[in-house]
Amino acid sequence: MNIRTSILPKGIGDIGATTFFVFAIPSVFWYEIAYVIPYFYDTTTFWYKFHFVCATLVFFNIVASYLFTILCDTSIKGRLIQSTDGTSICSVCESIQPPRAYHCPLCKICILKRDHHCVFTSSCIGFYNYRYFFTLLIFVTIGSLYGAYFHVFYTYHNVEYKSIITILRILMPLMMIVLDESSTQFIVAVLIILIVGVVIGIMLLYYHFNLLKNGKTNYEHVHNINKYDLGFKENLRQVFGERWRIAWLSPIIPSKLPGDGINFKISHTFKDK
Ligand SMILES: [Zn+2]
Ligand SMILES: [Zn+2]
Repeated sequence: MNIRTSILPKGIGDIGATTFFVFAIPSVFWYEIAYVIPYFYDTTTFWYKFHFVCATLVFFNIVASYLFTILCDTSIKGRLIQSTDGTSICSVCESIQPPRAYHCPLCKICILKRDHHCVFTSSCIGFYNYRYFFTLLIFVTIGSLYGAYFHVFYTYHNVEYKSIITILRILMPLMMIVLDESSTQFIVAVLIILIVGVVIGIMLLYYHFNLLKNGKTNYEHVHNINKYDLGFKENLRQVFGERWRIAWLSPIIPSKLPGDGINFKISHTFKDK
């Protein structure tokens, strides 16, 4: 795996989203295992230990997916690109641009099989790190659902519901943390973060699963380019590698990707519309 040399945020959107992500996920995880789950199960019981291990595994997979996504260099940098069918020239990089590669104005380089620039990881998602981005989506969604399940009941038992302050807490959770320092405000803010995590996680997972299933990048979906659709199983193998059946379970499972991100198999029945 080629390692990225600069992982600094590339713009104001990157700075905001990445900072939020990096602080929110560990804080919410810590709050759930230190306060919320002990509210329901004594820390000496089997069920506390069971949820502690499950939550830690989910958190580990989120952190590992995040690190692999940001550290994996999926750009054309340092790669030998020979002229094949479908190549063009990138005038900014002054280099041959392989098929499915596009220039990222934020990363300032061409990205192999570019899908999109992800503001939460300050990274472009492309040929070499799409797998890790997808496991990040899977585990953020699972973690948000898991946390929200306990947190809904925890909020119900610990937050007073009768005042105008409660409405403000729900509508402006982050601002109210500053104005109202009570612990109940923090409980509502964490609940909102978890619910937003569930909604965004499910939406992104649904969208990217459809791209994955049809062998497309975001650009190819928008422009209705179908020629890289090799069938469901082969499309999964193209993203998750040789061990595609288990590689989606964790980013740490080694799974060699077929191809080099420069030359791509084309569907026999393709028709460009
Ligand atoms: Zn370029
Ligand atoms: Zn980028």
